[in-house]
Amino acid sequence: RAKRGGKACVAIFDDELRRQAVARQRIESDLRRSIEQDELFLQYQPIIELDTGAVLGFEALVRWRNDRQVVIPPREFVPIAEETGLILPLGNWVLERACAQVAEWRSRGLSHALSVNINVSKKQLAASDFADRVQSALRNHGLQRGDINLELTETLLMDSFGHGAMVLRDLEERGVQFHVDEFGTGLSSLSYLNCLPFSALKLDPSFLSSLPSGEANQATIQAIVQMAHARGLKLIAEGVETAEQLEILQALGCDYGQGYHFSHPLDADLVEAYIEGKPSTRRAG
Ligand code: C2E
Ligand code: MG
Ligand code: MG
Repeated sequence: RAKRGGKACVAIFDDELRRQAVARQRIESDLRRSIEQDELFLQYQPIIELDTGAVLGFEALVRWRNDRQVVIPPREFVPIAEETGLILPLGNWVLERACAQVAEWRSRGLSHALSVNINVSKKQLAASDFADRVQSALRNHGLQRGDINLELTETLLMDSFGHGAMVLRDLEERGVQFHVDEFGTGLSSLSYLNCLPFSALKLDPSFLSSLPSGEANQATIQAIVQMAHARGLKLIAEGVETAEQLEILQALGCDYGQGYHFSHPLDADLVEAYIEGKPSTRRAG
């Protein structure tokens, strides 16, 4: 009896795995087509200077509107794109679109400094033509120093240190800045901060989720602020959802924030209205 139950379990497990594999394959082929047919789009979430409320810039976040007009969030397809290598065409599309958008805002006479943060994944950084791609995107759209910041996670840095470091220094000379995404979650040594050209750390939202109650958490954030400032880095808190969290972050000396308290990610055509009347600020780093 027990044996029969075991077999049934294996069968169910097999079915589930097969179902998942089919679903992934479906997403992969749909996504491949969607990249070619321009069914991806970017939303832009403002990054705000905490003391002044000024807009520093925006993070570009990719979305996928499939043929049934359903908008799929990146957590459901970016990991699959990373596994299948589709992240390369996807990442190139994001880079192009974000740079084109900055150029368009500029040409419409937006006086704001408006830098755009672009997320970069491991395979992109490892690709031999990555630096060239970034440079030609900057050149093709007539962008200037400081117009784009590339976001890299700590985990990504640990794995691709040698080649990645060269690419980062090369791009830094051409006016690109780098932010550490999901800072504080990577269990990594901080030594990479000594030799890589970062200008800001983006504090992972998990640090904020227990505020205001967690005193230990406040002490941790304060220590991170001090460490960042001692190294000449700015600190951007991600996932700021309440006025209370904002107040605490200000008191702890955090420089910038991003989160629903300020704004959800916006469609590109809403950005202009959003920043109207808001001051712009100097760039981080
Ligand atoms: P991320 O780079 O850390 O982006 C921040 C995520 O937090 C975004 O989720 C954003 O919508 C969400 N968020 C913003 N404010 C709040 C808040 O107050 N509370 C909470 N709970 N969440 C907030 P999204 O857009 O779903 O993106 C998820 C992740 O997907 C990103 O995390 C990034 O790792 C990845 N991703 C997004 N766009 C791209 C892209 O173009 N390329 C690559 N490689 N990855 C991307
Ligand atoms: Mg990011
Ligand atoms: Mg982040």
